[in-house]
Amino acid sequence: MDFKEYITVVPDFPKEGILFKDITTLMENGQVYKHAIDEMAKFAQAKNVDVVVGPEARGFVVGCPVSYVLGVGFVPVRKAGKLPREVIEIQYGLEYGKDTLTMHKDSIKPGQRVLITDDLLATGGTIEATIQMVEKLGGVVAGIAFLIELSYLNGRDKLGQYDVFSLTTY
Ligand code: 5GP
Repeated sequence: MDFKEYITVVPDFPKEGILFKDITTLMENGQVYKHAIDEMAKFAQAKNVDVVVGPEARGFVVGCPVSYVLGVGFVPVRKAGKLPREVIEIQYGLEYGKDTLTMHKDSIKPGQRVLITDDLLATGGTIEATIQMVEKLGGVVAGIAFLIELSYLNGRDKLGQYDVFSLTTY
C-alpha cells in the first residue's frame, strides 16, 4: 500500500516554506490506519518489547494502538507541566529556542525493552530526547518506528545505533 496517497501535504504550515505532512486524512480511513498500525506492530513483534513510549500528541496516535496490538503498556512523553507525578525532564533544541519533555520517573523499569514511536521523523530532536530519558530510566531501546521519515532532514543520522523503521519516506 502507498501510504502517501492518504497523507496530505499542506504547504506553508505552520510557517511559510514548510510542507507539513498531515496524517489526519490517513487516520480518517479506518482500513489504512489499521494497516499502518499493524505494519508498525509487525516491526516490533520479534523484538520482545515490554512497553511502547511515544511523545505527545501524534506519538500517542500511533503508539497507543501499537501497544494494544502488542499487548504491552504505553508510556507517554509530555511537555513540561502536564504529568501529575514525579518526572524526569530533558531540554532539547528546537529551530528557535528550547523545549522540555518529561516522563514519569517510575514509568520504565530498569532492563525493560522499549519500542519508541512517533508519527514523523524530521530532525530527530524529539526522539533523541526521548531516547535519553528512556535510557536514563534504565530502559533498553529495542526499536524506533515512524509512520513518516523526512529523509532530507537526516534525522536518522542521530539514531545511527538503533533499529529504525519508517512506513513511508519523503
Ligand atoms: P523532529 O524532532 O524530528 O525535528 O520533529 C518531529 C516532531 O515534529 C514529531 O513529533 C512530529 O509530530 C512533528 N512534526 C514535524 N514536522 C511534521 C510534519 O510535517 N507533519 C507532522 N504530522 N508532524 C510533524
